[in-house]
Amino acid sequence: ATPMSIMTATGRGAQAGVLIKNAEALERFEKVDTLIVDKTGTLTEGKPKLVAVLPEANHAETEVLRLAASLERGSEHPLAEAIVSGAEARGVTLAEAGDFEAVTGKGVKGTVDGKAVALGNAALMADMGLDGGDLAEQANARRDEGETVMFVVLDGAIAGMVSVADPTKESTPAALKALHELGFRIIMATGDNERTARAVAKRLGIDEIRADVLPADKASIIKDLQAQGRKVAMAGDGVNDAPALAQADVGIAMGSGADVAIESAAFTLVKGNLEGIVRARRLALATMRNIR
Ligand code: ADP
Ligand code: MG
Repeated sequence: ATPMSIMTATGRGAQAGVLIKNAEALERFEKVDTLIVDKTGTLTEGKPKLVAVLPEANHAETEVLRLAASLERGSEHPLAEAIVSGAEARGVTLAEAGDFEAVTGKGVKGTVDGKAVALGNAALMADMGLDGGDLAEQANARRDEGETVMFVVLDGAIAGMVSVADPTKESTPAALKALHELGFRIIMATGDNERTARAVAKRLGIDEIRADVLPADKASIIKDLQAQGRKVAMAGDGVNDAPALAQADVGIAMGSGADVAIESAAFTLVKGNLEGIVRARRLALATMRNIR
């Protein structure tokens, strides 16, 4: 039989929405045993929605939401958008925030009505010497549902929390099933906390999680796996993902993602979802089988 050449494979890939940088990438992808995927935007819609606002005693729900949303107007994070839209939908009038500061992977800080306000995850609270207090139990119950919880701090004390949900994409369960059948061990990496990550992973049948991951940690997670002898592919889309995409045996960029991510990747998926990875794997297996 005539082997399906790499040239043919790259052509077929392009038709199927998978842009393949070079022949070696296809060869390497056949040997990959571990696939790392981002949670937000890859497994989930990436369009989180505000689902709950819970004030501490002595604070009103509307006030907690007003503080959170006023501050988040300065952020472009999807979580910020969820909080601002949620506040607008509930008819909350927002204030002008000052001294805005984004704390990467943790949250935001600034002033509202001249008072110090912060909003973020448990790591940010720990940095500020605070814990969840009375809300800790409710925070955990929300996380067990796969929600992302953020605490609102006013004048150095926790005033309440907001919780956001990001539904999984309709295509995710079937794509994960196919990826498992194609021999991948699947690891979900997320900046979200362990408890939320575990809930999402359990629901989706993900094999392993890496939670509380700062963008800069992704490349070292891959290095560690490679040191254990694993062949690793990583799918990502952000500017922050470029070093990890370069470190992976096969970097997979989402076509909708940042240019630098696409440049660092061996594959680019025109449509930014897991089905593209299924197609790419089938193509790699078929091509290498024919060549041998
Ligand atoms: P991911 O893309 O996996 O969500 P990020 O590094 O973007 O990871 O965010 C990690 C965590 O940091 C979030 O889950 C959230 O708790 C916190 N965080 C980041 N940015 C913000 C923000 N603008 N407002 C509130 N929390 C934030
Ligand atoms: Mg992110």
